[in-house]
Amino acid sequence: MSMQTLEDLLEEQLKDLYNAENQLLKALKKMAKKATNEKLVEAFESHTEETQGQIERLEQIGKKLGYKKMTGKVCKAMQGLVEEGKEVLEEDGSDAVIDAALIAAAQRCEHYEISAYGSARAMAEELGEDQVAKLLQQTLDEESETDEKLSELSVSEILGAAHAAGSEEEEE
Ligand code: FE
Ligand code: FE
Ligand code: FE
Repeated sequence: MSMQTLEDLLEEQLKDLYNAENQLLKALKKMAKKATNEKLVEAFESHTEETQGQIERLEQIGKKLGYKKMTGKVCKAMQGLVEEGKEVLEEDGSDAVIDAALIAAAQRCEHYEISAYGSARAMAEELGEDQVAKLLQQTLDEESETDEKLSELSVSEILGAAHAAGSEEEEE
């Protein structure tokens, strides 16, 4: 793909995101199954649904910008993040510790998305693509809210339970 113009770069960025979202969609479904804490399961399930909507939003953006298709690019960063997350999925251990590990893995993915959507939105703004910028901002807000929700859940119940699980084991 040639990168002569800012339009070319935006296209590359959006296709990278499209691939990243599709990878993450599959991973989130697995994370929801692996999680134990009900609120965490719910958080993963609701973000799975949101992610489906984000994929559709990117398709809508692609149409608006006249791309023939959104596929064709592989997001290597998300591949790496998902692969690292797979280590947690294959792990046995105490429920709360696994939950904490799932959150840590998921937040790494959300931060990648937050960064990528922020870049793409700025490019769309520069190009005067206000509608596209607005759609990208909507997704960016969902990613940020997910990240915050996971942080709150982690601090309010998961980390404490994970810590307690460790000390119970020591006592036994
Ligand atoms: Fe997303
Ligand atoms: Fe990427
Ligand atoms: Fe996300």
